[in-house]
Amino acid sequence: MALVVQKYGGTSMGSIERIRNVAKRVAKTYDAGNDMVVVVSAMSGETNKLVALANELSEFPDAREYDVLVAAGEQVSIALLAMCLKSMGYKAKSYLGFQIPIMTDSSYSKARIEEIPDNKVRADIKEGTIIIVAGFQGVDASGSITTLGRGGSDTSAVAMAAALKADVCEIFTDVDGVYTTDPNICKDAKKIERISYEEMLELASLGAKVLQIRSVEFAMKYNVDVHVRSSFNENLGTMVTKEDKEMEAVLVSGIAYAKDEVKIAVMQVPDRPGIAAKILSPLSEANISVDMIVQNVSEDGLTDFTFTVPQADFKKALSITKETAEAVDAKEVLCDENVTKVSIVGLGMRSHAGVATKMFTALAAEGINIQMISTSEIKISVVVDAKYTELAVRVLHDAFGLSK
Ligand code: ADP
Ligand code: ASP
Ligand code: MG
Repeated sequence: MALVVQKYGGTSMGSIERIRNVAKRVAKTYDAGNDMVVVVSAMSGETNKLVALANELSEFPDAREYDVLVAAGEQVSIALLAMCLKSMGYKAKSYLGFQIPIMTDSSYSKARIEEIPDNKVRADIKEGTIIIVAGFQGVDASGSITTLGRGGSDTSAVAMAAALKADVCEIFTDVDGVYTTDPNICKDAKKIERISYEEMLELASLGAKVLQIRSVEFAMKYNVDVHVRSSFNENLGTMVTKEDKEMEAVLVSGIAYAKDEVKIAVMQVPDRPGIAAKILSPLSEANISVDMIVQNVSEDGLTDFTFTVPQADFKKALSITKETAEAVDAKEVLCDENVTKVSIVGLGMRSHAGVATKMFTALAAEGINIQMISTSEIKISVVVDAKYTELAVRVLHDAFGLSK
């Protein structure tokens, strides 16, 4: 008998018919003799509706109440799935995050899971109950509801699997696994059978939303093998697991893109020591993470300082940066919401020269201008005009031989 943690995403839970389909799949795994913990997302579109309500009410919705609101979608889906299983004659029980409790820190809308006591779940499992857990949500030490960031149910699932030392962790979604790039924008994308935690971490952090980045961090830290697969068929998907020799042989394993970053440029700022820290510190104090950074060569003692922030933090980041710009005597602050970050990722890049040149040449051949660049050992990212997103992804997919 194994302990199986399964997670079903929004599309898989998107209607009563689909919830019935999920219940049948859960029942089948249970009938095969397994103990089961099932983590679910809100029905597709529901979290977006809640986010829109908050934004309609206020430009800067209160952070605590925002999490109470956006966590609501999962309460609906756990109840429906538990009801469905019970109507089929199974013992099932739904749990909200605070009832487990999934303990997190207090960073609303991007909370980190700190601890998950397993006593309640274990007691229920012993009695043959199928546990249905609300993804995406937790509770902080003061008892306030927290959420884990968009796509956070993946993290709830991997964290549950780690806490319970589960034998299997399956993430069921609307595609057959992790592909060489988003199969919904590139028809030549290929399913990857096995991918290392490191590569998956990069792909996820660079925009491949098939797994939330923190879920991969958890998997890596606690050595959880994560099987990403489809809830609409029985195909084997992708194993996210420890690096092995075969994986290293591949130069570029995937292409990711992120449309949810915004470029902010502080123009003609006096170029003196400490200026970067002055601009960036108030942002980090506000818990806004800055991604790409470029500082121009200075001219007449003035320089332009450009960086990107997540779309979700854009308004706050802009107002903070405008204040700083005034304080440091910069000429103006410009912003551009129409940008996309396109990245290539691969363990093989560690030991190969010329990968960047190949990437830049391929983009140049299509007339795609590169606005910003950042590199690490196993990835290269560029910021380009958003209108080139799909073209850039396809061109790079071809250039690195992933379409074959
Ligand atoms: P869920 O609701 O099940 O959590 P998501 O929409 O969060 O599903 O994630 C699945 C989606 O991720 C796919 O439909 C696909 O468009 C997108 N995606 C982006 N990059 C990749 C990739 N490299 N491989 C597979 N899917 C990807
Ligand atoms: N429902 C949440 C979201 O839409 C969490 C998730 O789906 O993983 O972001
Ligand atoms: Mg998701």
